[in-house]
Amino acid sequence: MNAKRILLVEDEQPIREMVVFALTNAGYEVEEAADARQAQARIAERLPDLVLLDWMLPGISGIDYARRLKKDDLTRELPIIMLTARAEEEDKVQGLESGADDYMTKPFSPREMVARIRAVLRRGGPAAEDEMLCANGLTLDLASHRVSASETLLEMGPTEYRLLEFFMSHPERVYSRGQLLDRVWGSNVYVEERTVDVHIRRLRKVLEPHGYDALVQTVRGAGYRFSTRI
Ligand code: CA
Repeated sequence: MNAKRILLVEDEQPIREMVVFALTNAGYEVEEAADARQAQARIAERLPDLVLLDWMLPGISGIDYARRLKKDDLTRELPIIMLTARAEEEDKVQGLESGADDYMTKPFSPREMVARIRAVLRRGGPAAEDEMLCANGLTLDLASHRVSASETLLEMGPTEYRLLEFFMSHPERVYSRGQLLDRVWGSNVYVEERTVDVHIRRLRKVLEPHGYDALVQTVRGAGYRFSTRI
């Protein structure tokens, strides 16, 4: 399994060094940014698994940046742990509903930090192994990677499977081709946007005999949506 990637946004270098050291020791891959602008550039390169975000940053504050991340489709589900300097700040962050998933007050121990990160990643991580995704009789078994329509097993390629898994776990929302590439193929992979159309076509072909192709909907000028409302 690949190491989870943490993006650390913190302007104070000694804290950055401490965090990078502790997280690398714990088996994480760490990217650093000194402010929101740098963080945005890192995220554009590759989406991390979690963001450790300092409240007090030069320029855009950590809270404003957290809000921005939660508004953007690409980063909406990216877990955020806010770092605050004092307990009063922590209360304030919570009151402000910045969208952060957890809060840590400085100074914190590396051990506490790793424990919090693990907890947040578990919460926001991929669905439990034994979970089934269902939509109108179409079921996808996350443990066995089996897809069935009523009682019939459907054969499909690995990309079509990943695409369907993404759609079924994010129903009723429109994703552009670029967003699907980032979320299903990974943002570090360079493939053309029309590749998405090719795999959508293949997926629909597998679903068609059972009538489920109608769930994979084209939204003109926007992208694709998985919806049980036809
Ligand atoms: Ca700071």
